[in-house]
Amino acid sequence: MRIQVLNRVLASNDALANEYRKEFDKNKITAINIMSAPGSGKTALLEQTLKEIKNKINTFVIEGDIKGDLDAQRVAKAGGRVYQINTDGACHLDAFMISQVLPKIKTKKIDLLFIENVGNLVCPAEFYIGAHYNVMLLSTPEGADKPVKYPLMFSKADLLIINKIDLLPYVNFDFKSLEKSLKTIKPSLDLLKISCKTGEGLTDWYQWLASHLPQTIGRKLFKHRKEQG
Ligand code: MG
Ligand code: ZN
Repeated sequence: MRIQVLNRVLASNDALANEYRKEFDKNKITAINIMSAPGSGKTALLEQTLKEIKNKINTFVIEGDIKGDLDAQRVAKAGGRVYQINTDGACHLDAFMISQVLPKIKTKKIDLLFIENVGNLVCPAEFYIGAHYNVMLLSTPEGADKPVKYPLMFSKADLLIINKIDLLPYVNFDFKSLEKSLKTIKPSLDLLKISCKTGEGLTDWYQWLASHLPQTIGRKLFKHRKEQG
């Protein structure tokens, strides 16, 4: 019985997400859903990314948190346009929450919409929110065993970013076992290694972004980098 109810909830969620996803496509908005456990560095990645790209393309950030607007404040401080959703207890974002925000930002020109999901390795993966790509973060202190324990999240990701590689000398993070488990869960998963703190690997992330945006928009990120030499 519970499973039937859950299936109905997910079906109406997906229908709503598909509806506004069409609007994204019509308006050439690329939406990226960022998921991870709390503290893996989703907001830190957004801070770095906005500093790099905010003057090149039109970005907007939707922040999802159970309470408060600490992350929205950080994004705004990094120069980003941002809207904070409070889920008031729910441990994931869903299509209804996103659909409530979209009319409020309708008039803004947006090329790239980041949606930072609530920190949680379980149900954010179950709720489709109309994003074109799911980007997942795993930080090195969390350990390399997470794909085995939370396979759905990893199977739904298009890109896995290993963050906090500056901490590798101090933590046990076994890349070999990570790669081995990903081979069964999602062999096609893109993988990047970065540190939001030192900036290592971030260029690879911007390249990934550029290559997953429509060509005319992605080119704006590349062009600028070339000029910087
Ligand atoms: Mg955050
Ligand atoms: Zn949840």
